[in-house]
Amino acid sequence: MSNETIKVVIAGPRGRMGQEAVKLAVRTPHFELVGAIDHTYDQKTLREVMSADSDALIYTDIRACFRETKPDVLIDLTTPEIGKKHTKAALEHGVRPVVGTTGFSEADLQELHALTEEKEIGAIIAPNFALGAVLMMKFSQMAANYFEDVEIIELHHDQKLDAPSGTALKTAEMISSVRSEKQQGHPDEKEILPGARGAELNGIRLHSVRLPGLIAHQEVMFGMDGQTLKLRHDSYNRASFMSGVKLSVEQVMKIDQLVYGLENIID
Ligand code: NAP
Repeated sequence: MSNETIKVVIAGPRGRMGQEAVKLAVRTPHFELVGAIDHTYDQKTLREVMSADSDALIYTDIRACFRETKPDVLIDLTTPEIGKKHTKAALEHGVRPVVGTTGFSEADLQELHALTEEKEIGAIIAPNFALGAVLMMKFSQMAANYFEDVEIIELHHDQKLDAPSGTALKTAEMISSVRSEKQQGHPDEKEILPGARGAELNGIRLHSVRLPGLIAHQEVMFGMDGQTLKLRHDSYNRASFMSGVKLSVEQVMKIDQLVYGLENIID
């Protein structure tokens, strides 16, 4: 597949992630950027709107975009509500979605999974495209076999819409799959300020920090008597996510169901 050209459409091209994805699609020899989806600038080119090195047209109507550009893959980097609509529209048109947009619920994922099975077409939804973050999740799962107590602290820029991050949720799910549910902390602990102990998933506490200057960071902190183990990953810019986007676009052409999480497409 790597030598065959993959026709790509990007939703959210003016966004921080979208701009990097446009650069990736333009510079990757076996990718062809055939269009973009935005809620404005219909029928303008990416060159006109964002000085990209591409004359691909922007469409405000996703169906018109799919009809006219006939892409193989949709890369969605928008918002949870829009991203879900785009993903469904792509599957209905036989276009394989690679979704970086975060904030999908379990019910959303189940619905999309059913749709990929019905259409027998691949889709990848990855809350974190940074390979180092995926390894952090895998190492956390490994550590959870030995450490029962864990808290997750995720730190992001202050424009992020969803909390906790998709990566934090996914990490908690992966840890939960190998340990029995445990109520952590003192059984009689009381929050003097509501939320002080963070959110909870299967007894695991998740804390979300939002500050300007941050990009995407996470620390998974394990504790047992006399020792702690901290696993930390930092993305310093959005280019850090693009190796995972590229891999996902290549891999989604080879699968015929929904894969959630980059950890399921790397060894
Ligand atoms: P962003 O800068 O806010 O970009 C979102 C873009 O989507 C904006 O350009 C926005 O346009 C556009 N948009 C809004 N409605 C749209 C529509 N109907 N059709 C097409 N485009 C639309 O956000 P970002 O930082 O790039 O992040 C985008 C998504 O990726 C978020 O869900 C974020 O959590 C996620 N993310 C994922 C990863 C990963 O590794 N998977 C990493 C970082 C971020 P306007 O600004 O004009 O509204």
